[in-house]
Amino acid sequence: MQTTRFQGRIGIVTGAASGIGLATARRLAREGARLVLADIQDADAIAEELAAEGAESVFHRTDVAVASEWTRLTQSTIARFGGLDFLINNAGIPLAKTVLETSEAEWDRVIAVNLKSVFLACRAAVPFLRGRPGAAIVNVASELGLVGHATAAAYCASKGGVVQLTRAMAIDHAADGIRINAVCPGPVDTPLLDAFNQAEQGRTAVLENEAVPLLGRIGRPEEVAAAILFLASEDAGFITGSALLVDGGLTAR
Ligand code: NAD
Repeated sequence: MQTTRFQGRIGIVTGAASGIGLATARRLAREGARLVLADIQDADAIAEELAAEGAESVFHRTDVAVASEWTRLTQSTIARFGGLDFLINNAGIPLAKTVLETSEAEWDRVIAVNLKSVFLACRAAVPFLRGRPGAAIVNVASELGLVGHATAAAYCASKGGVVQLTRAMAIDHAADGIRINAVCPGPVDTPLLDAFNQAEQGRTAVLENEAVPLLGRIGRPEEVAAAILFLASEDAGFITGSALLVDGGLTAR
């Protein structure tokens, strides 16, 4: 369905080169947004694809875990588009390990990319979002930010942190006119899920009791993108501080 909810609106999408971020960027572009695509891997071809379809968009190579890169990213967004209306903090990395298997460097990287990045992004973006009508931030957490999971200690900790950071920031910035929400996807067909599954092979004893989504399948990136766009749009004008599950009912039982 073609709508124009984001006509002329300016946004940053992190992790836009793959999976959920890519599906989100494509749908935002279709709905009229002007986008800065931020990723550690090349997304020039995606920016060109969106531009060819009439959506002004630009790729900025960015490591979301580095504060100085956020200063650069927000400043060049303002220089290019003249403002910022929404921010989608989606970039993330998996780690399928127990605490005993996790090195200090692995812990630090997962927390930096999945959690600290959201703090850095919001610290850089809120001054520009403040006062923009309909300003919104959507953080991509996980159902693993709400429930535990075998062999995903640092990942669960990082996503639980994203959920709580979302709630805390929603309180602090409601008066600034910025709605801040999280989506909590269940298993979604992307390279990140492949990496989790690969790491979990041979651990069937631990995973035997893991739940299957009520809907009997894993999700598609486009199904999470739909929820992200909803929360970023005026359709969600009375929603802030929420953590929306998009997990096919996985955590309902
Ligand atoms: P993906 O691997 O397809 O995409 C992740 C993107 O983030 C990649 O393009 C990658 O290059 C980018 N990225 C990684 N580290 C980065 C960094 N330091 N700086 C900038 N970009 C970086 O994975 P996905 O499944 O689309 O994941 C998107 C988000 O959804 C993640 O936060 C992930 O934790 C979350 N999530 C995914 C699932 C799932 O089953 N796929 C479930 C719940 C939550």
